[in-house]
Amino acid sequence: MSATIIDGVAIAKTIRAEVAEQVAALSAHGIVPGLAVILVGEDPASSIYVRSKGKACKEAGMHSETIILPADTTEADLLATIDRVNADPLIHGLLVQLPVPAHIDTDKVLRRIDPAKDVDGFHPVNVGKLVLGDPTAFKPATPAGIQQMLLRSGVETRGAHAVIVGRSTIVGRPMANLLIQSGPGGDATVTVTHSRTRDLAGMCRSADILVVAIGRAEMIGADAVKPGATVIDVGINRVDDASLPKGYRVCGDVAFDEVSKVAGAITPVPGGVGPMTIAMLLSNTLQAATLRQQGR
Ligand code: NDP
Repeated sequence: MSATIIDGVAIAKTIRAEVAEQVAALSAHGIVPGLAVILVGEDPASSIYVRSKGKACKEAGMHSETIILPADTTEADLLATIDRVNADPLIHGLLVQLPVPAHIDTDKVLRRIDPAKDVDGFHPVNVGKLVLGDPTAFKPATPAGIQQMLLRSGVETRGAHAVIVGRSTIVGRPMANLLIQSGPGGDATVTVTHSRTRDLAGMCRSADILVVAIGRAEMIGADAVKPGATVIDVGINRVDDASLPKGYRVCGDVAFDEVSKVAGAITPVPGGVGPMTIAMLLSNTLQAATLRQQGR
C-alpha cells in the first residue's frame, strides 16, 4: 500500500476538542449552545445515530434534547413539535433525523425548521446561502467534514480537478458548492458525475481529488483512479461475510485494497468520513449559537 491514510477519527477528535473549547468560552458568557434532535419512530440505525449525537453534545459541553415521537405521529403533530422547538430560546440547533416515516412529507418538515436553527443545512434558505457563498450558511455536515479533512491533511484544492461521484442533496451537490467557493478548501475545478454519466471511470481518472458518494459497495476500482490522487470514500455499505461473527462487514464505495496501492491519500471505511459528520454537526450548533449572539 502506498497511499497515506486520512484518519477521520483523529481529525474529528481534534475538531470536537476545538468546539468544546469554544463552547466553554461561550458558556462563560452565559450562552450554552443547545441542540435538539427529533426522532420519529424507532428505526434501529436512526436511534443509534440520535443517541451518539446527544452523547457528543454533552461531551462538548452543549445542552442536548432528544425528542422521540411514535412512528404513527401525524405530520401535523411533527410540524407542531418543530414550531415549539423553533420558539425555544435554549435551543440553537434543530434537526429531524431522516428518514421520517412514509406518511410524512420530508420536504415540508425540512422547510418548517427555522433556517437560523437548521444545523443540517437542508432548508432551502441555507442551500441558497451555500450556493451564494454566504458565510452564515450552515454547511451540510458530511461535505463540510470532507472539506475539513482536505484542509487539515494539507490536500491542495486550489486549481485541483475534483470529481464527485453522486449528486445527492446531502453529499454530492453541497460538496460541489463547497469546492468551487473561493478561498481555503475551495478554488477547485469541479465535475459532478452520476448514474447517467458516460465513461465514469475515465472521468474519475482525470481527478486530482475524487469524492465518491454512490452507495454501492467497492464500485470504484484502481482503474478509475489517477496515480497519486486523493480519494475520499463517503459510502457506507454492509456486505455479507460469513467468516465474521456478525455475518457482515462494512465497506465503502471504493475498493480500498486495490485503490490504496494507486492513490496518494485515501479515507478508510470505517474511520474516514463517518466520524466527521457528528463533529461538524457540533460545529454547526456552535455556529448557530454564535450567530444568534452576534444578532446575525
Ligand atoms: P443517494 O442514493 O442519495 O445518491 C447516490 C448517487 O450516486 C446518485 O446521485 C446516483 O445517481 C449515483 N449513482 C448511483 N449509481 C451510480 C452508478 N452506477 N454510477 C454513477 N453514479 C451512480 O446517496 P447518498 O448521497 O445519500 O449516499 C451515498 C453513500 O454515502 C451511501 O453509501 C450512504 O450510506 C453514504 N453516506 C455516508 C455518510 C457519512 O457520514 N459517511 C453521510 C451520508 C451518506 P442518480 O442521481 O443519477 O441516481
